[in-house]
Amino acid sequence: MSIQIETDILVIGAGLTGLTTAFYLNKAGKNFMVAEVKPVAGGVIQTIEQDGFIFEKGPNTGVLGNDLAVELFDDLGEACQLEIAGKSVNKRYILKDGRWEALPSGVLGGIVTPLFTFADKLRLLGEPFRKPGTNPNETLAELVRRRMGKSFLDYAVDPFILGVYAGDPTYIVPKYALPKLYNLEQKYGSFIGGSVKQAREKKKLGIVSRATREIFSVKGGLSNLTKALYQSAGESKFLLGISDLSVQPVHGGFVVVGVDADKNEMIVKAKKVISTVGAHRLKTMMNFLPEEFYKPIVNLQYAKVVQVSLGFKQWDGMKLDGFGGLIPHKENRQVLGVLFPSAFFPDRAPEGGAMLSVFMGGVRRPDIYDMPDEEIRRIVDKEIKSLMGLKEFNPDIFHISRYKHAIPQYGADCAERFDAVEKAQEKYPGLIIAGNLRNGIGMADRIQQGRQLADAV
Ligand SMILES: Cc1cc2nc3c(=O)[nH]c(=O)nc-3n(C[C@H](O)[C@H](O)[C@H](O)COP(=O)(O)OP(=O)(O)OC[C@H]3O[C@@H](n4cnc5c(N)ncnc54)[C@H](O)[C@@H]3O)c2cc1C
Repeated sequence: MSIQIETDILVIGAGLTGLTTAFYLNKAGKNFMVAEVKPVAGGVIQTIEQDGFIFEKGPNTGVLGNDLAVELFDDLGEACQLEIAGKSVNKRYILKDGRWEALPSGVLGGIVTPLFTFADKLRLLGEPFRKPGTNPNETLAELVRRRMGKSFLDYAVDPFILGVYAGDPTYIVPKYALPKLYNLEQKYGSFIGGSVKQAREKKKLGIVSRATREIFSVKGGLSNLTKALYQSAGESKFLLGISDLSVQPVHGGFVVVGVDADKNEMIVKAKKVISTVGAHRLKTMMNFLPEEFYKPIVNLQYAKVVQVSLGFKQWDGMKLDGFGGLIPHKENRQVLGVLFPSAFFPDRAPEGGAMLSVFMGGVRRPDIYDMPDEEIRRIVDKEIKSLMGLKEFNPDIFHISRYKHAIPQYGADCAERFDAVEKAQEKYPGLIIAGNLRNGIGMADRIQQGRQLADAV
């Protein structure tokens, strides 16, 4: 059987980006549909509730890093309850010489911390007076070495990039991956002086941002956010379980063909198509794109990530009094970092217990993604016992989640990619190539892009 649908806008992908787009399209009264290959909406956001634990298979927390993310929660109202992490979240650990050291937050902490060398601490005083860089493709490692010193690269920036990108600062390019930081240097000539000047300028202009940069989740876990978006956007708008999706431009729009869960052919005629899927999916989905457009897009590299969720009904390891700990590459461990979600969100573990999220793999250890479960368990057992001060490793929850295309790596090839996206969109009016291949990888970035896509159409 063949099912035919006509709509003004077809959104492809029902992860956080596609769901936010759909939510705002619905709010604006637009005629739209969403096609998703999986039988459920949510993308990589998936919460599991098991034996008194609540844990995430994908992202654990977001940062309220822009106004549109804050507005989304206002707009969702009672459909979804924002949960802001407790104060303990501000304490972050970095492993140095096998010991956890708290990342300093104030001047005094910065002076006494063993994380950075005395020479680099002195050198930091000169940061506001150093010349801005001139190479737009300078890597983050080069930028940090130039402005701050090697120990800051090794014990602050390297673990930060592991924590956010599962990436490598010698590949990541700040212009694309950390544009706010890049612009501070380019506009004001310094990170430290620039932050102060920027804050003063905003105050003078009366710009009040609602982006508090607090760490958030939602009550009951992040799936309650994607569920709320799915339901508020209108469940009937979603075509779930649609495989083999293929887009073709036709006069006045696009024809999108796929196969539904009952093996029916599905043909959607749409005036506009918004793709929110990963770059690696585009070649087969949009095989009409000439090589000059699709190649720079699909060349995007992704970090493979393995996340192991550990639940303990009775916790007798180290005190969990922070956000978690990150492990610099120099420490030569098999784990990238450990988050302590039960330490800063209530109800994630039974009283007296703990919920941990262990991250492994990343761009430097893609081999871990392919390891059998028993091997991953053996590594986690050894590492977590020593890192978290446990005598025995007997978790009540041990859950492995694997992501082959977890986090896109914004390197020097972004310029060519963004150019190709723009040219493809110009050549095929009504086509929008979005998703986390551009505009940021964090959840707040995804919400911002989703809202902007809806506003734009
Ligand atoms: C393990 C992990 C941990 C993370 N941790 C954090 C974190 O702590 N904080 C943070 O802010 N961000 C984190 N992120 C990043 C953040 O989760 C993502 O950027 C965001 O959720 C991506 O949303 P999306 O909608 O753009 O993509 P996705 O969630 O990937 O959604 C894309 C959707 O498109 C669908 N799709 C793909 N191909 C097709 C096709 N051919 N036809 C139809 N549908 C298709 C997919 O099934 C999917 O549902 C993490 C990501 C991962 C993987």
